[in-house]
Amino acid sequence: MPGFDAVVVGGGHNGLVSAGYLAKAGLKVLVLERRPVVGGASCTEELLPGVRFSRLAYSAGLLRPEVVRDLELARFGYEAQPFDPQFFLPFPDGDSILLWNDNDRNLKELARFSKKDAEAYPKYVAFWTDVMELIEAMVLEAPPPLADLLGMFQGADAEELAKRILLQSAASLLDEFFESEEVKAMLVTATTIGLPAGPRTPGTALMLGHMLLHEINGVKQTFGYAKGGMGGISFALARAAEHFGATIRASTGVRRILTRDGRAVGVETDDSTRIDARAVLANVDVKTTFTRLLDPDVVDPTFLGKVRAIKATGVVTKVNCLLSELPDFSCRPGKTVQPHHRGYIDVCPSVDYLERAWDDAKYGSPSEEPFLDCVLHSVTDPSLCPPGKFTLSIYSQYSPYALRSGSWDDRKEGVGDTVVETLAQFAPNLTRAIEWREVITPLDMEREWGLPGGCIYQTDMTPDQLFSLRPVPGWAGYRTPVAGLYLCGSSSHPGGGVTGAPGHNAARVALEDLRPSG
Ligand SMILES: Cc1cc2nc3c(=O)[nH]c(=O)nc-3n(C[C@H](O)[C@H](O)[C@H](O)COP(=O)(O)OP(=O)(O)OC[C@H]3O[C@@H](n4cnc5c(N)ncnc54)[C@H](O)[C@@H]3O)c2cc1C
Repeated sequence: MPGFDAVVVGGGHNGLVSAGYLAKAGLKVLVLERRPVVGGASCTEELLPGVRFSRLAYSAGLLRPEVVRDLELARFGYEAQPFDPQFFLPFPDGDSILLWNDNDRNLKELARFSKKDAEAYPKYVAFWTDVMELIEAMVLEAPPPLADLLGMFQGADAEELAKRILLQSAASLLDEFFESEEVKAMLVTATTIGLPAGPRTPGTALMLGHMLLHEINGVKQTFGYAKGGMGGISFALARAAEHFGATIRASTGVRRILTRDGRAVGVETDDSTRIDARAVLANVDVKTTFTRLLDPDVVDPTFLGKVRAIKATGVVTKVNCLLSELPDFSCRPGKTVQPHHRGYIDVCPSVDYLERAWDDAKYGSPSEEPFLDCVLHSVTDPSLCPPGKFTLSIYSQYSPYALRSGSWDDRKEGVGDTVVETLAQFAPNLTRAIEWREVITPLDMEREWGLPGGCIYQTDMTPDQLFSLRPVPGWAGYRTPVAGLYLCGSSSHPGGGVTGAPGHNAARVALEDLRPSG
């Protein structure tokens, strides 16, 4: 097969971002995706006639505006809208809390639970806004060495800041700002998304700020919805990459990355086709790249040992449902669309509830009372299913990949039942409204999407695997010990989420090498 300047292994959104930048720079680029659709974890698929689901990722807002601009994504169908309200949390006592995109409204809502917390909330947002400005500046760059990163925290105030964001737990940081259990419950929901950790685990405070990296249409700190579901983002990226000249081939898995004299020179596909390339960009995770796609003899054993030691811990089950009617919440009754149906609907009545859910999983059992993060996508995008029906996406934690007893194939429908029953405690009509559902376990995520251990970020985003420690110390700059092989997926800095950042950063480094004259 004729050669390419670059072959991208995997058509996840980061692979597509890399392909778009490389093709726009004039290189001949090929993307090979094993699944029949592009997007990886950021996909939309028609699972029933006329019904399309965001099967894994479910909320937009992290995609870097620079990527949207550079790849002209609006021309290719990218459109996102903020959720408003952002959050709805029902409580067992019949009350509930809503967080809007309107500061005054939020202060009134929080004051119903605690006047002191309403006053503290703007200070809390300001605290994280300052921190996130520092972090945001590092997102579209290779991360600085750890010593430089820590060197930024000099002086007592800065050391206090380092303690808070790098060492403290989410629960203890929230205790510093707030007194109401309900307010803390609403704010804690984002802290352990995708992590093998509970809100009292040291180092989880940083994820409280992660949610503030979201931005939609220039409005910072907002989560939202992408037209066409999360695959809408990936389809726009694919169209943009093709427009700039890239070739994308779905249903084409890569079996091996080919090397000559220690340098990547192409790939071999599952049907034994060999494709030559000057560079290979791996959108698949670092563990699969080095332990399965490369001949172990070409990789330095010390490096390989470090890659094998990277943690990838699945903790999520996803349940996607088609509903015949909207969930009718006891605390806000009604089956017609109301504001609380338009954003995140979370089941997390307290910080302790989330910690207890993690307690189960620590010892290998799915949570008896799981944390849920739900979105009714078709309420904001009716094109996703026929009139009168609704799609419901339920993200649930914790579901440990490594079970203490039984197998995921045997237990998945039982866990799916627990997830549905947990939400039905707040919206009793849910169980009979479900016309169809699919349950996706960590094992399914590994088998079908290639996520090692079912880890939703390819590899864990715990503090010991972030910044210059991602994927391994010394190799955070997208190059690898194999010349001509780059990592462009979310197991590289800055990690998971539909940001496009690893894809952007890796393409820039590959371009430096492929076009040394600039
Ligand atoms: C359940 C779940 C919920 C999430 N929710 C959100 C959310 O709401 N918002 C958000 O921003 N992020 C969310 N995330 C995280 C986010 O989706 C991922 O971090 C992101 O999509 C990863 O993109 P990627 O391109 O780096 O990698 P991936 O999406 O992992 O892409 C890798 C691609 O490589 C392909 N591949 C694997 N092996 C081969 C092979 N041998 N040959 C060819 N191709 C191969 C895979 O099929 C896949 O398409 C969620 C993730 C999951 C799993």
